[in-house]
Amino acid sequence: MKQIAAQIRDVSDFPKPGIVFKDITPLLRDPAAMHQAIQSMIAPFQDHPITVVAGIEARGFVFGALVASQLRVGFVPLRKPGKLPYQTQQIDYDLEYGNASLQIHRDAITEKDRVLIVDDVLATGGTALASCQLVETLGAEVAGCSFLLEISALQGRQKLAAYTLHSVLQYS
Ligand code: 5GP
Repeated sequence: MKQIAAQIRDVSDFPKPGIVFKDITPLLRDPAAMHQAIQSMIAPFQDHPITVVAGIEARGFVFGALVASQLRVGFVPLRKPGKLPYQTQQIDYDLEYGNASLQIHRDAITEKDRVLIVDDVLATGGTALASCQLVETLGAEVAGCSFLLEISALQGRQKLAAYTLHSVLQYS
């Protein structure tokens, strides 16, 4: 865990004054730490009958695709509006300041799927909760959510209490 944590950098006042952003790009540059991170993200789900991984734009694509490859299942991107070319399903949700939307291709997931949601960071949990609900609108089951890191003070875990949730690193 120390090897992974050492590659996560705090950047003050990004993207706005007063916010300390967890920058995961140094981790992406370190293959040994990255390998450990992916193994740790999948560890609790190894024996779950997961059929597909859904990754949240944009850093969730990197972690999600690697997690999917390790689990030998396919990958589905959850994207901001206007990015997916085919027929989409959309969810709108509230953020701390303002609101946002995510889309998925309608034919990407079916009611037979058990989906693992993946992202880099769990903060307030709004994005992850919307992702779970979006997948459920297509009839699929959410098998769990896996994050590289969780900012515990923001209480995203409470928002996702209905789901199996895993994070590799926790910050207060
Ligand atoms: P939430 O909806 O849980 O408040 O925010 C989570 C989303 O915002 C995730 O998609 C995550 O990538 C992004 N995010 C929020 N804070 C940070 C941060 O400090 N570092 C990184 N890398 N992403 C963040």
